[in-house]
Amino acid sequence: MQAEFDYDLLVIGAGSGGVRAARTAAARGARVAIAEDRYLGGTCVNVGCVPKKLYAYASHFRDSFDDAAGYGWHLPDTPTFDWPTLRDNKSGEIKRLNGIYQRLLENAGVTLYNARATLKDAHTVSMSSAKGESEVSAAKILLATGGWPWVPDFPGSDLAVTSNEVFDLDTFPQRFLVLGGGYIAVEFASIFNGLGSETHLIYRRELFLRGFDDEVRAFTRDEMKKKGVNLHFDTNIERIERGDDGLNVTLTNGDTLTVDTVLVATGRRANVSGLGIEALGIELDDSGKIPVNERFETSVPSILALGDLIDSPELTPAAIAEAMQIVEHHFGETTPEPLDYERVPTAVFCQPNIGTVGLTEEAARERFANIRVYRTDFKPMKHTLSGSSERMLMKLVVDDESDVVVGAHIVGEEAGELIQNVGIAVRAGLTKADFDRTLGVHPTGSEELVTMREPSRT
Ligand code: NDP
Repeated sequence: MQAEFDYDLLVIGAGSGGVRAARTAAARGARVAIAEDRYLGGTCVNVGCVPKKLYAYASHFRDSFDDAAGYGWHLPDTPTFDWPTLRDNKSGEIKRLNGIYQRLLENAGVTLYNARATLKDAHTVSMSSAKGESEVSAAKILLATGGWPWVPDFPGSDLAVTSNEVFDLDTFPQRFLVLGGGYIAVEFASIFNGLGSETHLIYRRELFLRGFDDEVRAFTRDEMKKKGVNLHFDTNIERIERGDDGLNVTLTNGDTLTVDTVLVATGRRANVSGLGIEALGIELDDSGKIPVNERFETSVPSILALGDLIDSPELTPAAIAEAMQIVEHHFGETTPEPLDYERVPTAVFCQPNIGTVGLTEEAARERFANIRVYRTDFKPMKHTLSGSSERMLMKLVVDDESDVVVGAHIVGEEAGELIQNVGIAVRAGLTKADFDRTLGVHPTGSEELVTMREPSRT
């Protein structure tokens, strides 16, 4: 690389994608720096996947306490939940992870700038921190600043919190409301419902989780309702006002609700504010993302971008995979195969979990002349004695002509764990006959995936 620059690679943003790119490029011998003005680990570690999963674990205990009675366990008193304990234990764990990220970067020989970085030109960034201003140059600059919660404009929207704040609320919301029908909304509705809040979810259309398999959406709706989440569909927030007894939320259907906390989970936008891309002529596309080519180069070839900044799934493993691709393209010797964004396994950690990979039934019907759908829903064995009415859904979508399983969908306990494994089979393009030839693991819920013989519909 050219010695005329301070570094071979300068990464802006130390989230999952940025850190992975910095470390792997350094391991290839590149001189690498990374700039971050917030926390190490980005959204996932600090205000996303990690604390969310810890809170999801916390929220599952309530059902477990209820389930235990049928198995002969009697808890002495009604269990109580202490929010500050969960919140502060979570913060301790995140601090530990921040330290691990710092050590990973240091051990990889990456220079860390605790500074706000702004692009000056195609190879120069100005760094601003409490210590002052400086300029740093690099042959390649990687934008990895991720996403930021987006809040629609309505009266009182400033009284709501976003996923940036919800993990650290001072007091536990006895009455909780979330706006939105995506991943974050359903996950937090399940979390606060499980922790004991009276919980409301407001979604503007008929059924939440748009883009997921329709049967999965309806099944999840029914299961969440059974667990006590109040679902308000076909409505939106008109305004929020502070009242004597909490926040008064008026919905567009005329209903009013009084709650302690309103979480707005209406999507995230590319976090480019103050980055200086406009001055360099890098423009956002219609979906608010930075266009890149197959080498992840923006319209300025020395400036690269990944993760939530570009048009790819807003998922940590996607950003990490993109980071590895970038390093291979720009600091490696081979040209990597393009990433397959179609068969990405993903989980929604609502209660019960959703795990999904590949095509929905609706998308498969559009793509293939004929399909077969195998589906079953059943009461998991655990709930024969627990008395819980929770059910589990398993579904395989098969292209009739090739017999390839093009989609798999699971709703139920640990669906997030299960779908990772089914994802390998779907990614590998295995056929329904391959699934059928695999013996089940007995007794498990997932053996249904290899024992569904007759199509439910074609
Ligand atoms: P999503 O894009 O998933 O969902 C946004 C929701 O907000 C949609 O239901 C959308 O409705 C609704 N919405 C958008 N604009 C408005 C508006 N003006 N008024 C009312 N409702 C509106 O975003 P999230 O914030 O839930 O999550 C962001 C991303 O983070 C996700 O896409 C996901 O990739 C990632 N994530 C992944 C997780 C995981 O892997 N488990 C967990 C959490 C987040 P409509 O359907 O009508 O557009």
